[in-house]
Amino acid sequence: MVHNGRGVALVTGGSRGIGRAVVLRLVREGFDVAFCYQREAVAAADLEKAVAELGGRVAHRRVDVSDAVQVKEWVRDVESELGPVEVVVTSAGIVRDGPLVMMQDKDWQDVIDVNLNGTFNVCRAAVFGMMKRKSGCLINLSSVAGVSGHATQSNYSASKAGIIGFTKSLSKELGRYGIRANVVAPGFIDTDMVAGISDGLRTKAVAGVALGRFGRPDEVADAVAYLASAEYVTGAVLQIDGGLSI
Ligand code: NAD
Repeated sequence: MVHNGRGVALVTGGSRGIGRAVVLRLVREGFDVAFCYQREAVAAADLEKAVAELGGRVAHRRVDVSDAVQVKEWVRDVESELGPVEVVVTSAGIVRDGPLVMMQDKDWQDVIDVNLNGTFNVCRAAVFGMMKRKSGCLINLSSVAGVSGHATQSNYSASKAGIIGFTKSLSKELGRYGIRANVVAPGFIDTDMVAGISDGLRTKAVAGVALGRFGRPDEVADAVAYLASAEYVTGAVLQIDGGLSI
């Protein structure tokens, strides 16, 4: 049994990719983990099995982070079933890429709703209890696109830049309550999100990465685990990009 009482961590988008790696890493760190996802019920059940093999405790639910009511109910249920949420990691995210002139209203709105409004919904629901307990840690997934911008990703970049401003504001607003708020901004990480990239684009992308390769989800999870225990770090934007943004 790896459980050593570090409390409860809430992870959005935990069924796959970076979120899945974060769930496994936080379980190894001794957290009980509640994660949500959009569609992948089978993948979620598989992850539950993997966590059980590690001797950890996990709960999962299908929750649309863009729906404030669903999020509020989820956080309430997690707190009553597992205990107070100590760490929040918002990894749920989507892309709907396209040039600005071709971008449909829905492509813009969906990305803002899931990435930015979803982050707001989850943080707001969890922070109330953290303020009462004067302890907590928020780790929000942004992207290098949110720091530097990326052609054909104006919607995604806007949502991810918004997450940085949102999180920095929370670090200032909530520090006196013992709550830390930080951002992890990955570069290219090998997950389903980037699986559709053509070989040509991938070669071009890798050429811009100082370390000459895409990152792995567990390498982003390392940064999340660091921030979960870095007691004097708040308001930081930690770029995990192999040197893409140098
Ligand atoms: P992914 O597509 O592999 O997984 C996304 C996860 O989010 C899934 O579990 C999915 O169920 C969940 N999700 C999607 N919409 C949701 C909704 N409305 N409600 C609840 N859950 C929802 O993505 P990933 O590559 O693991 O990315 C994770 C995070 O990291 C995202 O925020 C992404 O923007 C960010 N990021 C990824 C990369 C990359 O190269 N993979 C780079 C920079 C930033």
